[in-house]
Amino acid sequence: MVDIRRLDEATVERIAAGEVVERPSSVVKELVENSLDADATRVEVTVERGGKDGVTVADDGIGMTETEVRRAVEEHTTSKIRDIDDLESGVGTLGFRGEALHAVGAVSRLTITTRPRSDRDVDSRRGTELTVEGGEVTSVEPAGCPEGTTIEVDDLFFNVPARRKYLKQDGTEFAHVNTVVTSYALANPDIAVSLTHDGRETFATTGQNDRREAVMSVYGREVAESMVEVSAGGEGGGESGDDGDAALPDGPLGGVSGLVSHPETTRSTREYLSTYVNGRYVTAGAVRDAVIEAYGHQLAPDRYPFAVLFLDVPAGDVDVNVHPRKLEVRFADEEGVREQIEAAVESALLEDGLLRSGAPRG
Ligand code: ADP
Ligand code: MG
Repeated sequence: MVDIRRLDEATVERIAAGEVVERPSSVVKELVENSLDADATRVEVTVERGGKDGVTVADDGIGMTETEVRRAVEEHTTSKIRDIDDLESGVGTLGFRGEALHAVGAVSRLTITTRPRSDRDVDSRRGTELTVEGGEVTSVEPAGCPEGTTIEVDDLFFNVPARRKYLKQDGTEFAHVNTVVTSYALANPDIAVSLTHDGRETFATTGQNDRREAVMSVYGREVAESMVEVSAGGEGGGESGDDGDAALPDGPLGGVSGLVSHPETTRSTREYLSTYVNGRYVTAGAVRDAVIEAYGHQLAPDRYPFAVLFLDVPAGDVDVNVHPRKLEVRFADEEGVREQIEAAVESALLEDGLLRSGAPRG
């Protein structure tokens, strides 16, 4: 006789939390997305020992009242959608599942300090500090704090030792955190994003809404100065280009824009090719390949350029209900997408005189 048991609630909760929170970088991703959804203009990320000993994300967003923050840590609570119809009509926020804060609280010691922004229609004089330990709300107190929200996550997986053990060395965990914060900093040049690890600032963008400036803060001056602007198809996709956007061949994409580096400003891995579909960071081998193809033989062997490239895919050609933790995307017409990206990047390089025209294409 096989004993098929119903799991107790605490076990179910920790298993479910593990689906959302895999490692420190997943905590960082969820918290930064919440700050962006909260209309922040400043997001400060601080981590200790790769995030294993602590992750803090502070923002100047809309903040929460005591009632709101109590709700926010409950299961399946969100302010972003009401029902499935809202999903069908498309969501403008990065989150909407209402599971992140609850999940993080289930597997860590969580402290939320928050105060509503004064332009909100609620009492913004009072701040609140709420703590959660292993899924239980352990205190809710009034707090003196600035407007906005600071969320601190300590001792990740303290109550799930098997998970805790599976975490990698500090440097490896931090590399994942860095990739996540970098991807949001580059995509949101209008927001001041900073990252600090074990007391040392890794980078800080100024939030002046200048893509090149964001690239400079993250990758340094030499890389930023080598970047050329890509702007093909779409309306208003370009940044003040006097000659307007380059033509984009017909295909699935409505527009391709962003920055790519000089063929001699390269690194030995592809990780500096950052690509976004409708503003969301994705890893798509086909997209990276297409960018590399555009350089033809101008790249030295095993060298790869920097890119921060935004692809507009018309609503309807992309599923908004994609899994939040999966970054890979696949396109129905991958060949069409590749051709469009290659053409857009090639024409930007040609225009800047960085490609010999008629350079043989890989
Ligand atoms: P989701 O983002 O899917 O709505 P979360 O569990 O991440 O779910 O957050 C729950 C709710 O808590 C959000 O819908 C939002 O109302 C509130 N919230 C979370 N983080 C912040 C923040 N940094 N500033 C303001 N409100 C927040
Ligand atoms: Mg969220």
